[in-house]
Amino acid sequence: ASGVTPANEGHIAFDKSDFVLVMPYGPENQYRLIGTVESEEGDKQQHSFDDVSQRAISGLGLSIKQVNWFSTYRVHHRVTNHFRRGRAFLLGDAAHVHSPAGGQGMNTGIADAINLAWKLVAVIKAQAPEILLDSYEAERKGFAHQLVKTTDRVFTFITASGGFADFVRTHIAPAIASQAYQYGRVREYLFRVISQTTMSYPDSSLSEGKAGEISAGDRLPYIAMGMTDNYASLSKIVWQIHIYGTATEEVRNWCDRHGVEWHVFLWQDAFENKGFKQDTTYLIRPDGYIGLVVTERYAEHLSAYVSRLGIQRALLLKH
Ligand SMILES: Cc1cc2nc3c(=O)[nH]c(=O)nc-3n(C[C@H](O)[C@H](O)[C@H](O)COP(=O)(O)OP(=O)(O)OC[C@H]3O[C@@H](n4cnc5c(N)ncnc54)[C@H](O)[C@@H]3O)c2cc1C
Repeated sequence: ASGVTPANEGHIAFDKSDFVLVMPYGPENQYRLIGTVESEEGDKQQHSFDDVSQRAISGLGLSIKQVNWFSTYRVHHRVTNHFRRGRAFLLGDAAHVHSPAGGQGMNTGIADAINLAWKLVAVIKAQAPEILLDSYEAERKGFAHQLVKTTDRVFTFITASGGFADFVRTHIAPAIASQAYQYGRVREYLFRVISQTTMSYPDSSLSEGKAGEISAGDRLPYIAMGMTDNYASLSKIVWQIHIYGTATEEVRNWCDRHGVEWHVFLWQDAFENKGFKQDTTYLIRPDGYIGLVVTERYAEHLSAYVSRLGIQRALLLKH
């Protein structure tokens, strides 16, 4: 295909109840197009590229020479009632399916797997009680519902028909969107939402405590520190403790007694900007989410948390 400028950027065109998303894909002049084909419920007809409305495509000035691959899929918006039934678990599209608006499906499925994997290992090795597995549905289902609702709204907006909807989509929304996108804050907000880095589990039974701007259940905020960063230790999929500031003897002793890996990061102003509170102890889960935040009586709180969850010493040991 040719005719779209700039050629190496993504483009989206709306035209009445028609839209097309154009993404440069591999070699020059090769693109992936995503759009809509109208069809009735239960329609089993095999569609081809000729069925795709050309209005939005020609609106972009795109001229298509050859179609290498064409495929259709039906958009569903559904979330399963249960992510777990006994020994069976659902994750990925099997648990929640929605329109590709926002490109979130694969990422969400991978996040499900990351959430479940360390819990399964712990329970299979008898290092944690079976009830830990219930936190998988509790933590992931809420986000799945929120995602399906949002993508449903975006998809409905993109495909809604009728005079007013057409006017908003083709005249008002593009003007507002391109203006808003000029602002760094808007771009940063969109990055946070789409990258899912702000997704958190504040109501989980595994989340306890808050200090500064960070609550248990949050994903550990990322901080670059010269040649390294505070995520380096997360490459080990283990429970670990992070202290931003100075570690008290009490915390160090507790970690040594329980064999828990711990890391101290000398206090910098940048930490506060990320929401950390000086000298606070953060107990981090194997998936990089914060389980416990402690600011005082460290040993007592750490021991109480571990015993409440029924976590065995073997699970905490650095491997
Ligand atoms: C057009 C489009 C664009 C997308 N863009 C993005 C994007 O940009 N970013 C993003 O994150 N996500 C995107 N997604 C969503 C993403 O593709 C899915 O969320 C993801 O592939 C789901 O992975 P999964 O492993 O859960 O399921 P699937 O990928 O559906 O895998 C399930 C597998 O199980 C197999 N299977 C089914 N039944 C059986 C059976 N009985 N026995 C054995 N095997 C079986 C199937 O053949 C399939 O291979 C997009 C989806 C579409 C349709």
